[in-house]
Amino acid sequence: MSMDGPTDDGPTDDGHAGRGSTGDDRTPAGGRILTLNAGSSSIKFAVYENPGVEPRLTLAGQVERIGTEPRIVLRTEKGEVITDGRPEGGAADHAAALTAILSAVDDATRGGAIAAVGHRVVHGGPRYDRPVILDDAVIEELSAFSPFAPLHQPHNLAGVAAARAAFPGTPQVACFDTAFHRGHPWVNDVFALPRDFYDRGVRRYGFHGLSYDYISGRLARLAPTLHAGRVVVAHLGNGASMCAMQGGRSVGSTMGFSALDGLPMGTRCGQLDPGVLLYLLQQEAMSVEAIVDLLYKRSGLLGLSGLSNDMRTLEAATTREAAEAVDYFVFRIRRELGALAAVLGGLDAVVFTGGIGEHSATIRARVCEGMGWFGIELDRAANAAGETVISTSLGRVRVMVLPTDEEWVIARAAAAALSGRIGSPAGMPDPTTI
Ligand code: ADP
Repeated sequence: MSMDGPTDDGPTDDGHAGRGSTGDDRTPAGGRILTLNAGSSSIKFAVYENPGVEPRLTLAGQVERIGTEPRIVLRTEKGEVITDGRPEGGAADHAAALTAILSAVDDATRGGAIAAVGHRVVHGGPRYDRPVILDDAVIEELSAFSPFAPLHQPHNLAGVAAARAAFPGTPQVACFDTAFHRGHPWVNDVFALPRDFYDRGVRRYGFHGLSYDYISGRLARLAPTLHAGRVVVAHLGNGASMCAMQGGRSVGSTMGFSALDGLPMGTRCGQLDPGVLLYLLQQEAMSVEAIVDLLYKRSGLLGLSGLSNDMRTLEAATTREAAEAVDYFVFRIRRELGALAAVLGGLDAVVFTGGIGEHSATIRARVCEGMGWFGIELDRAANAAGETVISTSLGRVRVMVLPTDEEWVIARAAAAALSGRIGSPAGMPDPTTI
């Protein structure tokens, strides 16, 4: 099915989006790019060739359970597993894990210099609205954002420290989950607290920005008219959020100050009345640590189902609790879809992405069910087949499924750094007091 009529620049051979906030196709040839996504006990990584056009994936993998029972898995670009086992040297910490990654990559590729390293960094604070080359001053500034994302930022920066030690003199680029949302209008950026809280950084930052950036670029290629219009993107994975885009830019998001807000997730609660926190603190005398554990690790689909955080398991389950957990997930997506369409003043397209959005025809069908009044008419056969366009021409709203690729957005930023197209923070908005 056609999406938008003819496009002036179709998808590239590898299906990637190309243009986004930092990219174009003029990257000169320049070696190999390593992308790192460092979490508390894992590092996901990928290796791209940078042949002078768009970065091309050659290897991807992860080290899990760093410091306890580490395991490294390495796959080719086609998904064939070429390494799976205990990492060389044991991976006792992030630096050791990175050494093991480099050794495995070297073995798989027979060497070759890393020309740039791209890092996923969850928080760019109020300031960073695009990727930036890391130096001591920027890293110090990013460390100051750690209180905003204490479960992620310190681990991201541990990955940065390990990579800087392993590759002295090699450009290191930070790509922020918050950056894509920095153009939010003030009303979508603020909480109704006394104003000085906003100035101190208590804002709705929004997350999953690398995924939304990728989808925006992909849509620009596939369907430029839709890209120019009003689009809601639903990133439904283990973490889940939705983003309202106008002209390819974020104007609203379901995630706010932290990655807890908005939709229920695998183990995170999603939107919660702050009065619940006060009750837990005051009446149930829960500790802060216990509440962190509750909201981040024991809530969401896992908490409601009492069974699993994994949508595949819940779809296959037969218990009432599993069914109700899925009911709540779908209910909140539909509710946020209405709210974000109101923010946009109408709706031209909905895009599903993330593990659930890309693969669960059932969830997509349930989100779209009975939405004819809203302009959404699902093509059941196209949805079941996982086609790119899953709406019929009877509805005003185009409904699409687009696989996301956050690693590629990081690789593109690293390639841009190599060709001098991103750099120091000069030219960015003024730093804000936080
Ligand atoms: P993360 O946020 O960790 O990157 P993913 O985007 O990989 O997570 O999404 C993981 C979720 O996608 C899990 O809940 C998983 O069950 C779900 N998922 C993956 N494939 C399917 C499928 N075929 N049907 C339903 N859910 C799926």
